[in-house]
Amino acid sequence: MSSDDGVSGLTGLGRRHGAGAGRQECADAPAVEVSHLAKDFGGRAAVADVSFSVARGEVFGFLGPNGAGKTTTVRMLGTLVAPTSGSAAVAGIPLAPEKGVEIRRRISIVPESPGLYLQLSVAENLECFAGLYEAPDPGDRIDRALRAVSLADRAHDACGALSKGLRQRVALARALLSDPQVLFLDEPTSGLDPVAARDVHELIAALSRSGVTIFLTTHRLEEAERLCDRVAILNTTLRTIGRPDELRDQLFARTLTVRTLLPLTQPGRVFANLPAVDSWHQDGSDAYVLAVTDPVAAAPAATQALVAADADVLSISESRHSLEDVYLELINEDEEASRR
Ligand code: ATP
Repeated sequence: MSSDDGVSGLTGLGRRHGAGAGRQECADAPAVEVSHLAKDFGGRAAVADVSFSVARGEVFGFLGPNGAGKTTTVRMLGTLVAPTSGSAAVAGIPLAPEKGVEIRRRISIVPESPGLYLQLSVAENLECFAGLYEAPDPGDRIDRALRAVSLADRAHDACGALSKGLRQRVALARALLSDPQVLFLDEPTSGLDPVAARDVHELIAALSRSGVTIFLTTHRLEEAERLCDRVAILNTTLRTIGRPDELRDQLFARTLTVRTLLPLTQPGRVFANLPAVDSWHQDGSDAYVLAVTDPVAAAPAATQALVAADADVLSISESRHSLEDVYLELINEDEEASRR
């Protein structure tokens, strides 16, 4: 959908207006920094003691079950609701009532529901919002935003006549009008078909390459795994944070699965004392699971031992845990703890 040209053209616009000065001033600060942030509603904790930081240009995934406090956190960072306690800085500016306008000038929030004026055309919607942002050169800015999301040829279509995917693109174009340093996206691909979702993914990647920080709230774990540099899993408190591969390694032992045509007669002799193999167990009649510290060292040694034992090897593969496995492990732990 997007071209890097369209996206970098847009982000270039920011340096010519008000946001540019702040970009320079706060160039070294993280895009988002959160310290012991909490929000209660009527005495009930929606978000409790959450701390993390997001680097500039990072694609940061914010995951968690329904009611985990994700939207509440984004609303706090977007200055739409005040924290009960804790502190944060967004685009290098401390979160405080008197700083709301300054922060909002540097961010955009795309909610799950695009919230467009359906009777107005795409261009009229963007003109309306460009006016609210008091953006300089609104015509030029709108053209670039539409090109960035590949909607230039639909500028005069009524938003009400557009598909859900196209409306989502209009919402993204609207978010780009203010040349945000930090873009908060809430479920940007919810309900989109795979092609429309891929278009949104490409735009996110292009924006990130051009230096925009993406704060992505999503329930699509494969989307987070593919797009995000790091992810946080929230369940009122912060359950974990890190690169998807780091989280997998922290939570799950690495294993090799060996499959043979016939059961081994003496598996203990084959798998004992192999380098980088901690333990093994049989899984069914013809599969053996080896807990390993280093698959690259363990797999060749296991292969040699199997060949020496005259085994007919069908496969030796490393078990891959997904981000979904990490998520389910942590959230199931929470559910079990709450039942105790
Ligand atoms: P989802 O994935 O369903 O969007 P979420 O992680 O975004 O969920 P939040 O919408 O932040 O979760 O809600 C966290 C908790 O705070 C929920 O228990 C919700 O009912 C509560 N909550 C959120 N906003 C308000 C509000 N304005 N008044 C009272 N309670 C609220």
